Amino acid sequence: MNQLRLLLLGPPGAGKGTQTSKLLAQFPQLKAISSGDILRQHIKNGTRIGTLTAQFIKQGKLVPNELITKLVFKHLSTLNDGWILDGFPRTLIQAQNLSQYLNPLGKDINLVIELDVPESVILSRIEERWVHLQSGRTYNDTYNAPKTPGVDDITGEPLVRRSDDNKLAMQTRIREYKATIAPLRQFYKNKGLLSVISGDSSDEIYPLLLDTVLEVSRAQETQI
Ligand code: AMP
Repeated sequence: MNQLRLLLLGPPGAGKGTQTSKLLAQFPQLKAISSGDILRQHIKNGTRIGTLTAQFIKQGKLVPNELITKLVFKHLSTLNDGWILDGFPRTLIQAQNLSQYLNPLGKDINLVIELDVPESVILSRIEERWVHLQSGRTYNDTYNAPKTPGVDDITGEPLVRRSDDNKLAMQTRIREYKATIAPLRQFYKNKGLLSVISGDSSDEIYPLLLDTVLEVSRAQETQI
């Protein structure tokens, strides 16, 4: 049976990572790929890709299409069916390339969910975000604090702040998002794959997201 291949869209700080973690906790057979997590790992490990991309990320600018596309395809090629993509594709050209790559394999995205969270909410919580670099797990001082401050709940390893979670980089990231989202949205709308979920908090959004995932996989006879 066909399996779930879900793309999460939404502005930076909308909680794509948090929703992904919740889905993975509920459906452990799913795998997730976050392009931002992959890049942050490269930076942490001091690789050539990390060196090439660190400044883009710090400033909130998109890294070159070709570089990120190659990187994500490499990760995708290691996965079996049943995955969640977060952060890629982010531009129309990336979406078109991804479709061209997955279509012949019979493994194109079968659901796209856009998280619609007000900009004021995003800006107010961005400076409270902490991340566990190895896993991509995120925490928030107010809504989702780690059990011990500064420490990942599961591994006990230290949490860090993202280099781009500050007001200046955030403004650029939101601007980049607004400049690229419309054609991307239209691309997936035309394919009949797009659902939009609105809300202020991840606790509010998750049940709606889950309903959508379950409903669509029933209708498409997709396995989760
Ligand atoms: P994220 O963790 O998804 O917010 O991504 C953090 C940063 O990584 C972005 O601000 C970009 O600099 C870079 N990045 C991640 N994914 C992409 C992508 N698909 N295209 C271009 N740049 C990306």
